[in-house]
Formats: sequence, C-alpha cells, structure tokens
Amino acid sequence: MPALARAPAAARGDDPFADLNAEQRAAVEHGIGADAAPPLLPGGPAPLLLVAGAGSGKTNTLAHRVARLIVAGADAQRLLLLTFSRRAAQEMERRAGRVVARVLGRRDGADAPALPWAGTFHGIGARLLREYAPRIGLAPGFTIHDRGDAEDLMGLTRLELGLAETAKRFPHKGTCLAIYSRVVNTCASLEQVLQSAYPWCAEWQAPLKRLFGAYVEAKAAQNVLDYDDLLLFWAGMLEDAGLAAEIGERFDHVLVDEYQDTNRLQAAILKRLKPDGRGLMVVGDDAQAIYSFRGATVRNILDFPAEFGAARVLTLERNYRSTRPILDASNTLIGRAAERHAKALWTDRGGTRAPQLVAVPDEAAQARWVAERVLEEREGGLALKAQAVLFRTASHSAALELELARRDIPFVKFGGLKFLEAAHIKDLLAILRMAENPQGRIAGLRVLRLIPGVGPVTAARVLDRLDTAADPGAALATFLPPGAVAPQEWQDFVAMFAALRAARAWPADLEAARAWYLPQLERLYDDAGARRADLDQLSALAAGYASRERFLTELTLDPPEATSDRSDRTHRDDDYLVLSTIHSAKGQEWTAVHVLNVVDGCIPSDMAVGTREEIEEERRLLYVAMTRAKERLHLVVPQRFYVTQQAVRGDRHVYAARSRFIADADLGRYEQLAWPPAPASGLPAAPGGPVLDIRRQARAAWA
Ligand code: ATP
Ligand code: MG
Repeated sequence: MPALARAPAAARGDDPFADLNAEQRAAVEHGIGADAAPPLLPGGPAPLLLVAGAGSGKTNTLAHRVARLIVAGADAQRLLLLTFSRRAAQEMERRAGRVVARVLGRRDGADAPALPWAGTFHGIGARLLREYAPRIGLAPGFTIHDRGDAEDLMGLTRLELGLAETAKRFPHKGTCLAIYSRVVNTCASLEQVLQSAYPWCAEWQAPLKRLFGAYVEAKAAQNVLDYDDLLLFWAGMLEDAGLAAEIGERFDHVLVDEYQDTNRLQAAILKRLKPDGRGLMVVGDDAQAIYSFRGATVRNILDFPAEFGAARVLTLERNYRSTRPILDASNTLIGRAAERHAKALWTDRGGTRAPQLVAVPDEAAQARWVAERVLEEREGGLALKAQAVLFRTASHSAALELELARRDIPFVKFGGLKFLEAAHIKDLLAILRMAENPQGRIAGLRVLRLIPGVGPVTAARVLDRLDTAADPGAALATFLPPGAVAPQEWQDFVAMFAALRAARAWPADLEAARAWYLPQLERLYDDAGARRADLDQLSALAAGYASRERFLTELTLDPPEATSDRSDRTHRDDDYLVLSTIHSAKGQEWTAVHVLNVVDGCIPSDMAVGTREEIEEERRLLYVAMTRAKERLHLVVPQRFYVTQQAVRGDRHVYAARSRFIADADLGRYEQLAWPPAPASGLPAAPGGPVLDIRRQARAAWA
C-alpha cells in the first residue's frame, strides 16, 4: 500500500481538496487521513453516512472521496459506485477523474482512471448476474424485460389462467405488475401490500398469488428477467455466504449516492456485500425522498447507524448551490413537512431576486411566458443549457413543446421516455432480443407477427417449437407456415434470423435486422419516413456499445434521454434547453429554473391525493424542483385548465388553485406577478379568471 503523503501537486498549492469545507473534508478523508492508522485498513474504513440537504455538496464530496481513495492507492477496479442513473455515474467518473488529474499534476485530465463498476443498482446487478449465471443456475443469455414487456407477459399469464374473464373485473395487467413489483421491492407479503397500497384489490389475493407464481414460472421458462429480478436475484445470490464473501471481496469500497431513494432490497444487497459496513459510504437527504411509490424507503437512511453499529454520521449544513432568497423559500416549504429531520441549511450566496410566483391565464400562456423568459435569458447571455423547465408529469410539457418548436428553440426532454416506447423501435429491438434469446416469448410474438400473414396462433406454434429446440435456426427453417404466409417471406425471415444467430458482429447485426425490417415498416406504417429517422438514430446509438448484449441490456435499463422528432436538430454539443420531469432532475442544477403547473391537482398530483404520506412525497417533489435553481426560480401558476370531456360535448375549463404547499403565510418569500399584465385600458381581468364562459353558453344552446 503506498504511503499517503499528499501528491506533489498539492504541495504546490493546487490542492483540489482545498475548496472543501471542514465537514466535506472529514467525509473525504474518512478512514484515510490522519485519523486512520494504518491508512486504508484491510477491511476498509468504518461505515459512513453523509446526510445533508440539497445543494450541500454531497455528490461533490462523493466524487472527491473517490478521487482521494484512488490517490491514496485504492484500485479503481475495486470501487463500486452506485448512482441513480448511468448519466450520474458518468458525471461522477468525470468529476473524480478531474480531481485525480489535478492531484497528479495533469491538467488535461488524461489518464483519469475509468471506474468500470460505476452504475445503477440495476445495471451493476445485470452485469454480476450474467457473470455468475453458471453458478446460480441461470442461463447466461437471459434477456431483460422493461416495464412494458413485463406488463405484456403479466397480461399473457393472466389470460392463460383465465383471470381476464372473471365476472367481476380482475385488476388490469399494469396494476398486477405494480402490486407484484411492490411486494418484491419492499420485501413485504402480498397481503401487507394489498392492505396498505391496493385495498380495492384485496379480494383478489388468492388469484393474484396464483398469477404471480405463474408469472415467475413463465420468466424462468423463457429465460428472461424483469427489472425487479435484477435486484431480487442479486440479493438472492448474496444469501449464499460463500458467494457473498467472494463478491463482497471484489470491492474495497462501496459508495452510494441518493441513498434516500433506495428500497429494502437495495439495502439488503449492501448489507450482504459489506456485512460490517467496512468500506461502505452512503449519502442522501431524507427531505428529497421521492420514490416511495416504487418501494423506496427513507428508513434505509434513518436506520443506517443502527444497522451498522460502528457507523459514523456526518452532516453538511452549507448550501453552495442557491442564492439566499431561493434557499429561504425552499427551506420554508420543506419546513412545513409533517415529519422532518431538521437540517438548517445556510448559504453565503447573496442575491436579492426572490423566486417568482407567476400567475398566467392558462397553459398556452404558460408556454408563451416560459418561452419568452428563456429567450430573454439567452439574450442576456445565459446559455439554454443553463436553464431548465421542470414538471410533475411528462405530459405537462406538451403545450410548451409545441411553443418551443414554433419558435425554433432546441430542447431535450428527460423523463417520460418515449423513444424506446415507439412501436417501430420496439420492433427492431425485439428482433435483436429474439436472436439473443429465442425462448423469450414477448419479443418472439412481436417479431413473428411482423411477418405478413402470421397471426397470433401461428406465432404461438412457432414459439412452442422454439421452446424446446436445441437449434432454434433449424427449428424455424423446418417449420411449415400456413398458406397465408408467402414462402419467400418466411425464408427471408429465417435467413435473417440465422445471420443474427451466427454472426454476432456488432453493430452489423443491427443493420441486418434493420434491412429485413424496413419493408415491414413501409407496409405497416403510414408515416414510415419519420420512423426511419428514428431507426437511424438507433443505429447511431448502437455504435457506442461493445456488443449486442450490452446494447440491449443498457438500453433497457437506462434508456436514452427521450428524443423528440426535433432531436435530429439537437446534437449533444449544441445549446439546448432542458425539459425534465422533477423525478429525472434529481441531483442536477441550473442557473434558471422554471417549474410548470404549480397548482393543486398537478403538484400535489390528483393521482396522489390519497394518504398523507403521498401528499408529503409531493411536497418533497416540489422541494426537489425548487432546490435545482442556482439564481433564478420561477413557479408558474396557470389559473385555468381546459379539459376535454367525452360526456359533455366540447371542452370546458376548470379553475386551478395555487399549490397548497405554498401557504398564504409564505407568500412574502416570493415576488408575485401576473402575466400578461392587465391591459392599460378597459376593464382589468377578474383575479380568479372570467366569471362567465360566454362561448360555452352559446355552445350549450346547440348541444
Ligand atoms: P443534491 O441534494 O441536489 O443532490 P448535493 O448535496 O449532491 O445536491 P452537489 O451537487 O454535490 O450537492 O453540489 C451542489 C453545488 O455546490 C455544485 O455546483 C458544487 O460544485 C458546489 N459545491 C459543493 N461543495 C462546494 C465547495 N466546498 N465549494 C464550492 N462549491 C461547492
Ligand atoms: Mg447530489
């Protein structure tokens, strides 16, 4: 182990750790610096929990710690870094690399160590499972179902069990999957989950249990794993003491960001990897917990010290991100949370601009206002990339997207991933998946039905054959399709499949699949031209992956940021505005932030207006949104929403109220304005919107 003298550059006053405050430094030096002798104990430093508010430098501290460990002689191959998204992992790698380069006196960041084990829990889980597959009775060629595929398989299983035809309506496949997923992720019983989260499905407990059993069987028979399995099987693999020790020993340090949004299974995985917590460091903020709907629990943070007896707990109190008025407003908002672990955040970043609360007549005006503000900022020298528009639900940005397109403002939208959900993208990926794993029925069904003349019955017969075939290519070649299928069509398909099974040349495989698919695309879709452009984009993406398996796995686990049809104009290095769901904005920051639809019904979402816990989670969501802003924060409050109603002919509007999370007593923290300003002449607009909808009356006469 090399001595831990500071590297030479540090002595020259280029110490990248010098900017850290005392608490950050303590976390970075924990178990390494003067307080640990000998340095980097075998078994590693004591478990460390860093719990602190938004913008206090938690992620930054983690990146510095990674760098510090490497400088102190830790092997980058033996660092396991678990982040919220692949993007976050890459960012961490970049930041740590920069610090290491500085310490070593290299300014360009060259030779910055790669962190091969940085990624999401699901991504790392998939890699380990593939590697250990032969030892845990898993076929290594497994494919991974995304939520859509998993729902489809749940739907098929439900159908096969005859549950779809019960007299009283059995829960929808999406609900079934959600219940199943919650049971898995919370490590609770089906009964508990039904009682606490799905009381209206409680009467179906017995058939649900049967369904889930059959679903698990189907996955096994088809050699597929769903998202939850990646955690479940990883945790299960570590229940074997021998394997747990072996895998745990591969990593000297395990570092986890955004720990507040991990679930019981993830905590169990960490515990089994590092039973005494040595080498384990987790960071998080309980005030930003926004994933309990997926089974995440802040108990993981709260119980960490009890779980790991020797744990050291550090907190950070200084916020480096936001100006004081923004910090004051967000502190006030979270201060009203029913349950809260008081964290006093302070900043010395002055600033006189209070966050704005902007009343606009409706969503169209909201879109115009945001577009104008964004352009104004750009005129003032602020790049589009330094600005973001955040919203509760992906659909909330629809009007804004139109407005931005109209004004030619480039943007990229995060969250609400539509790219991979597009039918033609799914088609092409299914072809690759089928080649990878011919037993997967969901992909197989999709692909076979692309062949002209093949219907569900024929497809099922083919899949039955593939189920047991030692040589899937031969099984297809010798299959006699019914008369409706032209022999040439079948042969073309068989040839393509054989090529994909044999060649394994990447990304040439994708091109072969695409060449076969293009005529089907032309036949199936009126707008084939536009869809072809998406396929081009998929080809471009493919080039960035080492193999077909890695491409499929990573794309499924961490799909590319949604690419709208305007994305061809939006290249990575160009300037673009960020549109993002609040969930996907986690951990990030922008100079100017606009939050859309800060009204009751949107945030809190009317989907969530149930339990008190759900409402509190919505409050934390708004807190997360507000704490993304460095200098300018605008909360937009449309006064009216138009809703299309099937029952009543035509549209009607409903009045909206400012989000309940911004209490009257707190309005002093905001600058309030109305847009567009009241006209100079004539009557001013009524404050709550018009009292009468005159057109509606006129329409009603003809309804
Ligand atoms: P979140 O809770 O939102 O994930 P965080 O606690 O992870 O926030 P970071 O993103 O690490 O916070 O840091 C917030 C901002 O503060 C970043 O711009 C970061 O560079 C800056 N920052 C952190 N620590 C310092 C420091 N010691 N000196 C100057 N700037 C700092
Ligand atoms: Mg962070």
